[in-house]
Amino acid sequence: MFDPERKAESLAMDRVRRSLAEAERVVVLTGAGVSVESGVPTFRGEEGLWRSHRPEQLATPAAFARDPRLVWEWYAWRRERVGGCRPNAAHRALARWALSRPGVLIVTQNVDGLHGDAAIEAAGDRAPETAAWPIELHGSLFRVRCTGCGERRPHVAPIDTGSRASLPRCPDCGALLRPDVVWFGEPLEDRTIGRALAAARGCDACLVVGTSAIVHPAASVAVEAAHGGAVLVEVNPDPTPLSPLAGVSLRATAATAVPRLLGGPNEAGPA
Ligand SMILES: [Zn+2]
Repeated sequence: MFDPERKAESLAMDRVRRSLAEAERVVVLTGAGVSVESGVPTFRGEEGLWRSHRPEQLATPAAFARDPRLVWEWYAWRRERVGGCRPNAAHRALARWALSRPGVLIVTQNVDGLHGDAAIEAAGDRAPETAAWPIELHGSLFRVRCTGCGERRPHVAPIDTGSRASLPRCPDCGALLRPDVVWFGEPLEDRTIGRALAAARGCDACLVVGTSAIVHPAASVAVEAAHGGAVLVEVNPDPTPLSPLAGVSLRATAATAVPRLLGGPNEAGPA
């Protein structure tokens, strides 16, 4: 039976697939929604509570200065919860797509490292090419930064939070290491947000996945792209403040919609 709604959806999907395939430069902006189907908690509201502390009380430079052990204990707990999560079909489709064609930049607000994991998977025996490696606007749970010399490095080993003396220290200068994430009250790193905004200004299409787009300046990546004339495609189960700017809004979850949009092995388009 002819179903006009289904037909309209299918036509919209075809149009988006074509726009993305034809675009020379594409910026993909992702948020918490892209990782929901991987089981990553949002750490907001009830989920965010840990021993009755709210994230706003722990994810600050002042909290770390006052009690680094408490802050590290919270991050050790988060790393444990997130460390068991794997990339889902959306992360995988994006990583494969970025490796298979030039001109794709993935920009994420997430600190879960799943785009990086998907890039490593997609690259197989090759070194994960920078093409599929995301710009992590808010840093990563699995990186540390030295509070002394500022050196950053990957860090996935368990954190010994037994005492202040057992907390991880910089192998170069001996100062305390902190999670390499952007805390409340801290600006995004100029170089990182600058790279993302520059790419957004020059792109032909911007795919926004799983973000309510209310956190600035991350949200300005999509706004800059739209103002520069790029086609804005939104994948989100609910309307967001970006929806009015979007040429097409697909009301679906990331793992459902993204593989259909980008295609790839075992992921045929709409019938
Ligand atoms: Zn150091």
